[in-house]
Amino acid sequence: MFFFRSIRFRLTLWYLVTLALILLLFSTFIYLTISNRLYAEVDRGLLAIAEAVASPTLEPFRKSAPSVLDQILEDFIGPNVADKFVQISDAEGKVFSSSTNLQSISLPLDKASLMLAGIGKSTYHTHSNLLHYPIRTITMPVMEKGHMVQVVQVGTLLDYASDILEKLLVIFAVSIPLALMLLWYAGWFLAGRALKPVELITTSAQKISAENLSHRLEVLNPNDEIGRLAKTFNMTLDRLENAFNRTRQFSMDVSHELRTPLTILRGETEVGIRWGGDAEELKKILKSNMEEINRMSDIIGDLLELSRTEEGKLVLNPVPVELYELLQDICTKAAPGAKEKRIVLNLSNAGSFMVSGDPARLRQIFLNLVENAIKYTPCDGRISIAIDSEPGWAKISVTDTGPGIPQADIPHVFEQFYRVDKARNRNDGGSGLGLSLVRALSEAHGGRVELFSLPGNGCTFTVFLPLPQL
Ligand code: ADP
Repeated sequence: MFFFRSIRFRLTLWYLVTLALILLLFSTFIYLTISNRLYAEVDRGLLAIAEAVASPTLEPFRKSAPSVLDQILEDFIGPNVADKFVQISDAEGKVFSSSTNLQSISLPLDKASLMLAGIGKSTYHTHSNLLHYPIRTITMPVMEKGHMVQVVQVGTLLDYASDILEKLLVIFAVSIPLALMLLWYAGWFLAGRALKPVELITTSAQKISAENLSHRLEVLNPNDEIGRLAKTFNMTLDRLENAFNRTRQFSMDVSHELRTPLTILRGETEVGIRWGGDAEELKKILKSNMEEINRMSDIIGDLLELSRTEEGKLVLNPVPVELYELLQDICTKAAPGAKEKRIVLNLSNAGSFMVSGDPARLRQIFLNLVENAIKYTPCDGRISIAIDSEPGWAKISVTDTGPGIPQADIPHVFEQFYRVDKARNRNDGGSGLGLSLVRALSEAHGGRVELFSLPGNGCTFTVFLPLPQL
């Protein structure tokens, strides 16, 4: 069943049917051309003899007896009349003279031919059942003063033409099926060759599974159709592998992140159950547990927010937001933290900039950046927040005097769970999701975030938000 449905079989079949049709058309054309030529030649010969018999010169001899007629015809027309049948009838079609070879048969003269002869027209016919070969005849009127007085019929056996046409048919009948058989093999072979790369692709593709997603198809000729198919397939595999790796990495990161607070929770709870004596001690344990629970719920909240933005399902409620007011609010919120580390928080404004955004999400963006700056800047440092613009964009930058971020880490800090100093940041309570959220939320607002940092010289995070078109 598969064999008949295979492309190879169908290709070969189409190829064969097309070629068979071409061969049939071609041989029919040859057959018809040759038979027309042969008949035309025969007809020319018949016409010449009929014209001679109907000529006035032979008028006195047309009523002679057969043997005499034969002799006269041969004398006047020549030896080529010998194998011709000659028959002469009156105006009613009654035969009154014929050549000796017409003693046992007579050439049929139908009414239509007689009528046409009556108006001076000659006609040709082929009679297939008079003798073992067909006979071709011409029926020609003998006219006198515009009236038909006699009808001359000359016939000849079509033995030569029939033999040639018969041989031609035999040649076609043998050679066409033979050619088609050879063409079937040629077509089968060619289709097989053309489809070989597809077979190769199928076998290699079957070997690729989730376990060896890094395998790629071999691209033999990158510019032909199959090569392009293999390249496209490889590109799809690249994307699939990336997505697969990201998902794997993501599950590993999430499990890792949640394991630490869960271990702490379990440890402290066990201690509480075994040794927790007085209420004060239990309260202390519960307070610590609460911190871990908050941490886990922060992580899960951030992850949910991130996946919503990634899927484009984050619902923003945009309203006009005045950036200076928003950032003043953030500074007020962050001030106690900054004060604790004696960090100076400075907000400068190059003008009044209104953007369209979701205030809660915008607050989340800037609070994350300012809190990070406070977290990573040593005591007695300085954090400057500046609001500015460039054509089409409002620019909000948060610059600190902290340790900065090494060049190698800059491309990764916006990735989920990425931390520059892995051990320290987890203890600080950072989940490694803050900057991913900053980027996702900025992009959800149609903007972007950029980072500039010289290690040892602090860093500057700049958020670009689109300014409404005027
Ligand atoms: P975290 O919760 O760990 O702070 P973030 O996604 O907010 O996660 O930041 C990713 C990493 O980028 C941080 O772990 C830290 O190493 C680095 N980082 C972020 N902000 C600053 C900053 N202002 N100065 C120095 N390093 C920073």
